[in-house]
Amino acid sequence: MVVIGPGGVGKGTLARRAVERDPGLTLSRSWTTRPPRAGEHGDEYVFVDRETFERAVDDGYFLEWAQFQGNLYGTPRPNLGGGGDVLLEIEAQGAEQVRHEFPDAVIILVRAPSLSELEERLRARGDPEGHVQRRLASTATELSDGERLATHVVINDDVERATDEILSILEAVRRERRAVDEGLT
Ligand code: 5GP
Repeated sequence: MVVIGPGGVGKGTLARRAVERDPGLTLSRSWTTRPPRAGEHGDEYVFVDRETFERAVDDGYFLEWAQFQGNLYGTPRPNLGGGGDVLLEIEAQGAEQVRHEFPDAVIILVRAPSLSELEERLRARGDPEGHVQRRLASTATELSDGERLATHVVINDDVERATDEILSILEAVRRERRAVDEGLT
């Protein structure tokens, strides 16, 4: 399952909340060449230099990877043998690659209730003003790419309510999968 959406929309918070609430769901830990932000503890990403990242690309280590605002981000190929579901919180180019490899992937676009709310949330993160402006400028593209790719749209008006919605989408997918499996046996 993939969660996408513009920066500041709260998709990271929703993703973390969803895995906290659902024991069968694990959050994929991405690699990035972006330096850690103040307040990040180091477990948000595997922080690496560009050379290490590029070597991993050459080794076929990533399920998907993309350049976003000058930094590289990638999802290590998940070990799907465990039987659980994996949640990726990534940007749209990466979601497109996932869809290419897994055409049935559930892709949830998270939207803010309004643009002014999104701007407020981006500023609250304490990033430099130039960064906030670049993120706002890319919001329109992220939303239109997101609309094109998404199988579901969730409005993040309230964290618990939006998490409920994400988990009920997951439950519906699991029910459908069980029905297909039972049909085959
Ligand atoms: P941030 O630098 O704010 O943590 O993340 C910037 C963007 O990169 C966000 O939209 C986030 O979802 C996306 N991102 C994080 N990890 C990955 C990844 O592994 N692959 C891709 N394609 N995007 C990612």
